[in-house]
Amino acid sequence: MTFEDLKKSMRENQPDADLELVELAYEYAKEAHEGQTRVSGEPYITHPLATAYKLSQLHLDQTTIIAGLLHDVPEDTERTVEDLAEHFGEEIAFLVEGITKLGTIKYRGIDRFAENLRKMFVAMAEDMRVIFIKFADRIHNLETLDSLPVVKQQRIARESIDIYAAIGERLSMGRLKDQLEDLSFPYAYPKEYEWLKGIVKHTRPGKKKMMQDFMKVVEKVFKESDVNIQELYGRVKRDFSLYKKLIKPKYNNDVDKIHDIVAIRVIVPEIRDCYHVLGLIHQNWKPMPERFKDYIAQPKLNGYQSLHSVVFTNTGQPIEFQIRTQNMHEIAEYGIAAHFHYKEKGSGKPTLSPEAEVWLEQLQRIQEEIKENAQFIETLKLDMFSHRIFVFTPKGDVIDLPDGANSIDFAYHIHTDVGNHCGGSKVNNKLTSLDHKLQSGDVVDIIIDKKRTSPSEDWLDIVQTHTAREKIKAAIRKRQQGIITRLLYRD
Ligand code: MN
Repeated sequence: MTFEDLKKSMRENQPDADLELVELAYEYAKEAHEGQTRVSGEPYITHPLATAYKLSQLHLDQTTIIAGLLHDVPEDTERTVEDLAEHFGEEIAFLVEGITKLGTIKYRGIDRFAENLRKMFVAMAEDMRVIFIKFADRIHNLETLDSLPVVKQQRIARESIDIYAAIGERLSMGRLKDQLEDLSFPYAYPKEYEWLKGIVKHTRPGKKKMMQDFMKVVEKVFKESDVNIQELYGRVKRDFSLYKKLIKPKYNNDVDKIHDIVAIRVIVPEIRDCYHVLGLIHQNWKPMPERFKDYIAQPKLNGYQSLHSVVFTNTGQPIEFQIRTQNMHEIAEYGIAAHFHYKEKGSGKPTLSPEAEVWLEQLQRIQEEIKENAQFIETLKLDMFSHRIFVFTPKGDVIDLPDGANSIDFAYHIHTDVGNHCGGSKVNNKLTSLDHKLQSGDVVDIIIDKKRTSPSEDWLDIVQTHTAREKIKAAIRKRQQGIITRLLYRD
């Protein structure tokens, strides 16, 4: 990978980009990282370059690509975010700062905290582009994971699956999610990976052959009909996706129960063409009972849309058809990033399903922005979590609190006893007053005062959370009852 490769990719995918500015950023990054090497021994610049290249391939804009080139400068070199702002403007500096901030989040493999960590990741990113850069960065790190010690490999690989890929899935960025999972799988779960490889070795070649033979028949049937087909191709189920399915109780590790190891994808222009093609398929090949799913009428939570139907081929083997429009396909592969595809190809705007709201309630608002404003990405802020903050315990676990919360709220959130015995607080290793407003990313360490037996009444005026207030009231009531009891039974 050289800078020439990036330029070539950008000429294709970002034809309007200012390549001179991109080259300036490349030279700046190269100089800043001068003398640094990757663990593999390669010059450090190969990493930001590969990151930028991936962003170009995703059809993202020039600003994002430049931020990709510069993404490790403040963290690993003498040059600061302010220097970047001076040279390349506030917007690029803001994106790079976002990536640097995300670098502090670490997943220690505790499931209980994974969901909060995912939310925190998105909240701290602030801008969708920061997530894209971070994903491209991580994918390149996974591609070069071989050079790291095994313990580190496993931590990074599991974090990539549990945090990064899970976010990718919710944001409907299938292409990135797939890469993150497949690159991580052998490092995250080596034994399971070997087991799956054994299964795949025995099943995949035969299934592929069956699919190729059947495709010829399908092509002929489609040609002789009046259906409108844009693209027809076979897809093979990916390793990690197959693994996740196999271990579900429903399949009980039995590969014969899985009917989408290979599938035929049909891309059509309009929704009505989807149903038209489906009708034609069912006329020619018997569908397997209860193996038809209409994700167009009922999209998946992340907005995924397609028609899926398992049918019996002419030789009696089951195979799945997946029918969708080009628009649905782009959304499934790229999620919000698909917007750029459409902009480049000039074929309209993507629509993100409101079903995605379950996790990102305000995705719909973003959709409105997409519709209203072609330049939406420049102002796109992930403020859906702006009313929440995410802070760490000293062990690095993430606690999710409402904006404005302080150390007392934090203490009660951990445990009632921690709250009742709260004697003080250290935020980021500094002694801090209890009413100090916490910020996302703060590390909060509650100082336990064993002599304190119940909370101070003043705390009721300070706390921001309902939980903390109720727990304080309960503790005070208990104390008062104790006093009354003692008064009543004194003689
Ligand atoms: Mn990096």
